[in-house]
Amino acid sequence: MINTVLCDLPYSIKATYTINDDNSYTIFINNKLGFEEQQIAYKHELEHINRGDLFSTKDADIIENILNKSGG
Ligand SMILES: [Zn+2]
Repeated sequence: MINTVLCDLPYSIKATYTINDDNSYTIFINNKLGFEEQQIAYKHELEHINRGDLFSTKDADIIENILNKSGG
């Protein structure tokens, strides 16, 4: 299960996510983004979850580069 929360994040962070104690996920979307940007950010975080990035030993910057190159 994936929860989505709009919240007040710094401008530099469009969205982030966390795994909860019950193994559900929560995606946090920056409420400063426009609607379309929120959709894009949401899909981006979903890609991380689908890849299991939270449990990956890869460097976060490398993961970001892979996702950005794939258009996410
Ligand atoms: Zn990302």
